[in-house]
Formats: sequence, structure tokens, C-alpha cells
Amino acid sequence: MYEMIIIGGGPAGLTAGIYGKRGNLKVLLLEKMAVGGQLLLTDAVENYPGFVEIISGFELVEKLRKQAEKFGVEIVTDEVKNISREEESQLWQVRTEKDLYETFTVVIATGAKQRKLEAPGEDRLVGKGVSYCAMCDGPFFKGKKIIVVGGSNTAVKEALFLTNFAKEVVLIHRRGRLRAEQILQERLFSNERIEVIWKSMITGVLGENKVEAVTVENVNTHQKRQISCDGVFIFIGLDPNTEFLKGLVEVDTNGYIITDDDMNTSQEGIFACGDCRKKLLRQVVTACSDGAVASAAAFRYIEKVKGIKYE
Ligand code: FAD
Repeated sequence: MYEMIIIGGGPAGLTAGIYGKRGNLKVLLLEKMAVGGQLLLTDAVENYPGFVEIISGFELVEKLRKQAEKFGVEIVTDEVKNISREEESQLWQVRTEKDLYETFTVVIATGAKQRKLEAPGEDRLVGKGVSYCAMCDGPFFKGKKIIVVGGSNTAVKEALFLTNFAKEVVLIHRRGRLRAEQILQERLFSNERIEVIWKSMITGVLGENKVEAVTVENVNTHQKRQISCDGVFIFIGLDPNTEFLKGLVEVDTNGYIITDDDMNTSQEGIFACGDCRKKLLRQVVTACSDGAVASAAAFRYIEKVKGIKYE
């Protein structure tokens, strides 16, 4: 029996754990893969406050993990499949692949994953030139030509990172301007190895056993052309990891969990934080902030349920 079960061990979940343990709660964190979440996919973080020098995603994860362990957060590797509650019960049941747990509160911190292009050839060539992680796969493209798709901070940052390996990077964006921070845009435009193709979409990924080219369509003229390349890195947005909740809490049309300012979901005792919830900015700093707030809200809820609310 736990007071708080956190689902997901990214920055949001780890921060919720740190705050929960500092509140002396009995906390369990369930993570289906490696602790760290999407942070493990990036080589450099330079916008997390307090770090003047660039810190790698892995290093930041290590610091967060050690801090969580220092305060005694219990971390178990397991995937949550379902959350339910019997009528009249104050306890939520969290069913995982391997176990069943009971808890007063659940903090959902399951984050998000890169969205697919849904273009023909994409699925078939994943791992054969199609990638969603520059840090994992970039080194395989030394001296090659790479296409990067997207216009966000992540797309631009990863395009810049890929110039460490590729001889040529072509950024393809469906709009006429980027959404990325100005500082990143300036670096992109001044990098001689990067070409930008505006107002265009990839309509197919071509190649027999590995990526050989992409077909690109201009969104205004609908003119199509083929561009030969060795790799396609896709950063066109995120899809939340919320499928397993299946109608339990209110979500928006894209599946992001709707919360109030205190991270309360539509179900009493269930809180959501980080990239899995509907919000403006999905970054480490906002994930950590959400995690802290979710934990504080859960703490108050537990006091109320136990009849010991601090007035
Ligand atoms: P996540 O990091 O997505 O973690 C969620 C965790 O939940 C994952 O570990 C996942 O395995 C786990 N999980 C999911 N479902 C289940 C389940 N059913 N059961 C158990 N566990 C589950 N942000 C910045 O601030 N600066 C940057 O420079 C930056 N660069 C980035 C570069 C890349 C390539 C990417 C992909 C992201 C970048 N970000 C950056 C964004 C940042 O990493 C995210 O905003 C942040 O990691 C979100 O944290 P989170 O804890 O909400 O979710």
C-alpha cells in the first residue's frame, strides 16, 4: 500500500518523487524503461536554469535520479497497464505488467513520444535510415546526407547536432517560418551545412533495404520532387503516452490530459504532470515544475482523505 504512485520516471515523475518523499509520503515510482525519459534522447541541454555550461541529457538524468534516490524514492521497472477504483473505495488500484498496487493518489507522468509522419515507407525503414533520435543514431551518418523534418526547438537543435556527423543536412518544414527559439534559428541559418526547404512535406520514404531518397511535396503548388539522402530524422511533434488510461481521465482531442493549475485531473486523487498534460511548453523545466505542483496537490489530497488537513 502506497500513499503516492508515480507513473513515469522522466523529469516530471522524478521531481514529483523528490517532493513526495520530502513530504514523508510512502512513494513508489513505476518506470517501464530506463529512468530519464526523453532527456536520455538529447546530447545537450542549455536552457535548464542553473546550468551555465551545456549539460548532456544523460548527466542531468543522473543528477535527478541520484537526488530522487537520496530522498528514498522507491523505483521499480514495470509498465502500468491500467488504473481503477472500486466504488466507494478511497484507494486506487494500479495494475502493472507484473503486479497490482494500491494507493491513495496516482501521479501520471508518462510523457510523450515523437509523432510519426505516417508517410509510405516510414515504418518499413525505421532503423534503416528513418530515426526519431539524433543522439542514438546520428553517429551512423558520418559524411552522409540527412533530412530533418520539423520546425520546433527539438527539430532545429537536433539538425544542428547532426551537422557533427553529416556532410549535409536538409531541414524540411511545412510552414514558411520556424517555431524554434530565435537563438536556435540564428545558429541554424548561419550553419553552412544546413539547407532549409520551406512549405514542404515528405510524402514518401524510398529505398529497398535502407533509405535512399524522400519524395517532397510543396504544400502550396503541390509540386513533387525526389531528394536523395541517407537518413530521415523526424521531429514533427509529440503524441502523449496516455493510451493506457482509456477514458479514466479527461483528455483533449490529441490525448493530452486536461488538468487545472494544481495538476488535478477529472478524477479525484489522480494528478498529471509533464509532457503528458495539455499545456503550452513541453520542456524539462516545465516538467519539473509540474511534478513539484502535482506532489504538493497530492499531499493535500492525502491529508484530506485521512482527515488531517492542515487548515
Ligand atoms: P518523459 O521525459 O517523456 O518521461 C516519461 C516517462 O514515462 C518515460 O521514461 C516513459 O518510459 C515512462 N512511461 C510512459 N508510459 C509508461 C507506463 N505506462 N508505465 C510506466 N512508465 C511509463 N527539453 C528542454 O528543456 N531542453 C532541451 O534541450 C530539450 N531537448 C530535447 C531533445 C529531444 C531529442 C527530445 C525528444 C526532447 C527534448 N526536450 C528538451 C524535452 C524534454 O526532454 C521533455 O519536455 C521532458 O523530458 C518531459 O518530461 P516528462 O517527465 O514529462 O516525460
